[in-house]
Amino acid sequence: MSERVEDLFGKNVFTLSKMKERLPKSVFKNVRTVMTEGGELSRQDADVIAKAMKDWATENGATHYTHWFQPLTGITAEKHDAFVSTPDEEGHMVTAFSGKDLIKGEPDASSFPSGGLRSTFEARGYTAWDITSPAFLKESGTGVTLCIPTAFCSYKGEALDKKTPLLRSMEAINLQALRIVRLFGDTSASRVTSSTGAEQEYFLVDKAKYLKRPDLIFTGRTLFGAPAPKGQEMEDHYFGVIRERVGEYMKDLNKELWKLGVPAKTQHNEVAPGQHELAPIYETANLATDHNQLVMEAMKRVADHHGLRCLLHEKPFAGISGSAKHNNWSITTDTGINLLDPGASPERNVQFLLVLACVLKAVDIHADLLRQSAADVGNDLRLGANEAPPAIISVYLGEQLSDVVKQLVETGIAQTHIEGGVLKTGVSTLPDFAKDATDRNRTSPFAFTGNKFEFRMVGSADSMAGSTTILNAIIAEAFCEAADRLEAAEDFELEVHDIIKEYMTQHQRIIYDGNGYSEEWKKEAALRGLPNIPSMIEAASALTTDKSVQLFERFGIFTRAELESREEILYDTYAKSINIEALTMLDMAGKQIIPACIRYEHSLADTILAVREAGAACRAEGKRLNEVSNAIEAAQDALDVLRDLEDKAGKISDAREKAFFYKEQIVPAMDELRRPCDELEMLVDKSEWPFPTYEDLLFEV
Ligand code: ADP
Ligand code: MG
Repeated sequence: MSERVEDLFGKNVFTLSKMKERLPKSVFKNVRTVMTEGGELSRQDADVIAKAMKDWATENGATHYTHWFQPLTGITAEKHDAFVSTPDEEGHMVTAFSGKDLIKGEPDASSFPSGGLRSTFEARGYTAWDITSPAFLKESGTGVTLCIPTAFCSYKGEALDKKTPLLRSMEAINLQALRIVRLFGDTSASRVTSSTGAEQEYFLVDKAKYLKRPDLIFTGRTLFGAPAPKGQEMEDHYFGVIRERVGEYMKDLNKELWKLGVPAKTQHNEVAPGQHELAPIYETANLATDHNQLVMEAMKRVADHHGLRCLLHEKPFAGISGSAKHNNWSITTDTGINLLDPGASPERNVQFLLVLACVLKAVDIHADLLRQSAADVGNDLRLGANEAPPAIISVYLGEQLSDVVKQLVETGIAQTHIEGGVLKTGVSTLPDFAKDATDRNRTSPFAFTGNKFEFRMVGSADSMAGSTTILNAIIAEAFCEAADRLEAAEDFELEVHDIIKEYMTQHQRIIYDGNGYSEEWKKEAALRGLPNIPSMIEAASALTTDKSVQLFERFGIFTRAELESREEILYDTYAKSINIEALTMLDMAGKQIIPACIRYEHSLADTILAVREAGAACRAEGKRLNEVSNAIEAAQDALDVLRDLEDKAGKISDAREKAFFYKEQIVPAMDELRRPCDELEMLVDKSEWPFPTYEDLLFEV
């Protein structure tokens, strides 16, 4: 097979061009119409498409098909069906796949979290084809499977997945953004689409070592581990030369992704040892969301082929950087106008200034929702902990735009913009080049980066759907309120300037261009009245405030019942995840660490007796024995406390109460157990230590 990107790209995707080749012209035209304008396919068309899709899939080795969906577990789900039907009288197999099979599925998927939206006795849930995301072939241990991207809803039509609300939010922002561009005289655009690009960070560790660590196996992160002598302080890993084994992995990963139509573009080593990043080129938000799921899946699958394991957890190792997923978000008309492009003179680009004012308003009013959209269990160890970015939402605009906003707020008009100027290299053989008017700020959670916003809070293991849905929703609302006023205004020019000035004045507190990691910012943000929501479960209630229910119901993105169910699921997920972590710690400390240390203690004691008998003083051995013995005692005490608290937690039935008990009681008790165990790691003979250490995991891939 050719290795050229052009030949590999989209090989396993039922692309538009393959449809064009294989479908009658009229059917192809109907497909395009439904894709761009919405609506439904007729049963006849669906049958024709299904036949073409099945033929293509089976020619390429597929034996099964699946409705591929994204339940509230945050990962994808699939249930495979073979392309087989009842054999004919002579025993021949006729493969079958109808339009109905393509468009609608009914997996008995009753075990997915629904937060009370459906009980197991009324478990009907349906999957429906998202025609805007193409079908693809997945090659794995099970062979080749035709995957049909779908949305997943209950019998009553409630969303049970992450995709349905995302699609609804794309609809909302399309409608509201179209009103805005129409007001500015654009009559040719017929659609506004939100696009996202997901920068994905990950760690690679050796598989054999991974398999010796129950914490990595059960929780995806290390629950014990003393820091290695070297961390990331030399900054030699970031953008460093990619090691051979990792390079071979990346090469295979890219090929897998290109075949799946994922435009994987950038790869590099990240800040922490063992950490890397992959960024694809941005795409329509729902496709980018699907593709990010494929990226995460492929990262894990390909790792296995290289004797590696890929860790997508937000904080696999203490003391070094964790992993994020930057959600780069923009909105563009189908005529190619990016509404976030300031152009050469932002101060005169009134439409852009209105859009910017709306974004500032939306982010300020709904900072709690945006914070919530990035919350997951692993991310609690990044956001607001001593790592990037802070848990406080703020917007970074950069020098040029901040200056324009300042002029508008102070005088009602902006007349100038700061120029980028020329960067002088000072070397005669190097060219001088034009410099951007705005520098970058890596510490901001929500940064304007030229013609898009980069939301950097999202966790590496999270789906792109949640944060994109919230961004679309809150900005659709701000657009809607501005459009309501502008459509009713007698003097458009006057009203639009009033709105821009008003929004920017009222919401300028959300703009912060300084160091987001600093202590001063925390104080300053508190003075400004910005919310600082430290954890996932404290963020969860943002979903069901009156403000939020109104927003989502108004634009048909979530019903109150859907929001309540999601909040419930968050508490439940949190409690379950921390419970698994606590049990894993009890297991590792009780069955591996403490017994190993006792053996070492015993051998020390034996040594001391023998050495003393032989007539030497044995001071160092005695000192070490005491240290080991004290740390074992501390570990055992902490283990007993944690075990008792676990018993208590098990008796709490209210989901929210239980989640808070885990956060406030269990998590600190886990830290207490970790401390003496990590101390012991530094005292005990390395050959006795029961599992690979940080240095083994991080530096020997
Ligand atoms: P970095 O933030 O690391 O400097 P880039 O600026 O190159 O990286 O872009 C990061 C991601 O943003 C990529 O996935 C890229 O495709 C995406 N991106 C670039 N332009 C846009 C845009 N207009 N809308 C959405 N995403 C974009
Ligand atoms: Mg970035």
